[in-house]
Amino acid sequence: MIFDPNPPADVRVPYPIVRCSQGSTLNIVVVTERWVGLPTHYWGGHTVWCPGEDVCKACLSGQIKRWQGYVLAHALDEGPVAIVHLTNLAAFMILEYTQNDLNIFALKIQLMRGKKAANSPLIATVHGRKQGVKKLPMKALETTVQNIYRKNGSAPLFER
Ligand SMILES: [Zn+2]
Repeated sequence: MIFDPNPPADVRVPYPIVRCSQGSTLNIVVVTERWVGLPTHYWGGHTVWCPGEDVCKACLSGQIKRWQGYVLAHALDEGPVAIVHLTNLAAFMILEYTQNDLNIFALKIQLMRGKKAANSPLIATVHGRKQGVKKLPMKALETTVQNIYRKNGSAPLFER
C-alpha cells in the first residue's frame, strides 16, 4: 500500500452552489475579499463564458451578454461555505452600501428574489459586517468558478 498525503488538485467544485430561489430570501455572510464577475451568455442550453465580442459566437449572432457574480459565503449566516450567485442588480446594490468599495469581506447580506418569475430581479440588502469571520482565499473562489464554467465548455478569465 502506498500512502499519499496530497489530495489531487483535479477539476472539481468543492462547494455547493446556492441560488436564491423564486419568492425566497437567503441570508449570507461573505468569506472572500471580493466577488468574481464575468460576462456570460445563455447559449446551447448552458450559461457559458463570453470570451470577448470579436471572437464570441454568441455575441456575433446578437445574443445579449449577462454579467454573473459569485462569492463564497456562509449560507444562512453560519451554515457551510457555499458559492453564491449574484446578479448585476444585487452587486450594484451591495456597492451602493459599500460606497463602491469592492472589499465585501464579512458583509451580512440578505438576498431576496421576487415571486413573479424564476428570473425575477435579485435584491440585496446589506446589514453591516460580522466580526470573527474566517477569510477564504480568492483563489478558492476563482478555481471553483473556473471549474463550473469548464464543465459548460469554456473557462473564464476574471474581471475584478
Ligand atoms: Zn459574447
